[in-house]
Amino acid sequence: MTEAGPDPNEPVRSIRAPVHLEYHFMPGRASSRFLRGVEQGRLLGQRCPQCAKVYVPPRGACAACGVPTDEEVEVADRGTVTTFCVVNVPFHGQKIKLPYVSATILLDGADIGLFHLLQEVDAEKVHMGMRVEAVWAPPEQRKPTLESILHFRPSGEPDADYETYKDHV
Ligand SMILES: [Zn+2]
Repeated sequence: MTEAGPDPNEPVRSIRAPVHLEYHFMPGRASSRFLRGVEQGRLLGQRCPQCAKVYVPPRGACAACGVPTDEEVEVADRGTVTTFCVVNVPFHGQKIKLPYVSATILLDGADIGLFHLLQEVDAEKVHMGMRVEAVWAPPEQRKPTLESILHFRPSGEPDADYETYKDHV
């Protein structure tokens, strides 16, 4: 006689297993230069010696050409929204009021977009080509992290012509 219960041969399809992972990110030389610049309110990229593309943040090499990018270039803390997403879904640990916008911003002088938060504008008013500027934390609060830029906001400039950013969408 056996007790009534689950079939012991039935496969277990899921279990609940809380896991905590702690990461320590080591930025490396190129990213460290970038992050030290951010701490000083500057955005430093690197230009590829072959294709001349400016990477911000720099990774120390051009992914397309496979060569080191040693030339340091300072880019503007303003740029153009190339793509964006409106976040409507609440999630655990969320600090920002919904809906909000995360955007890829092509900084003036850069050739790859920087992903950051866009605030001080209604989500439905955000669009491709919108000109935006960085809102920095006060100098005494800046640290070597992109959180030293609190967010971007519309700069009030006229929209950028699609031709100026079409290759970066
Ligand atoms: Zn290159």
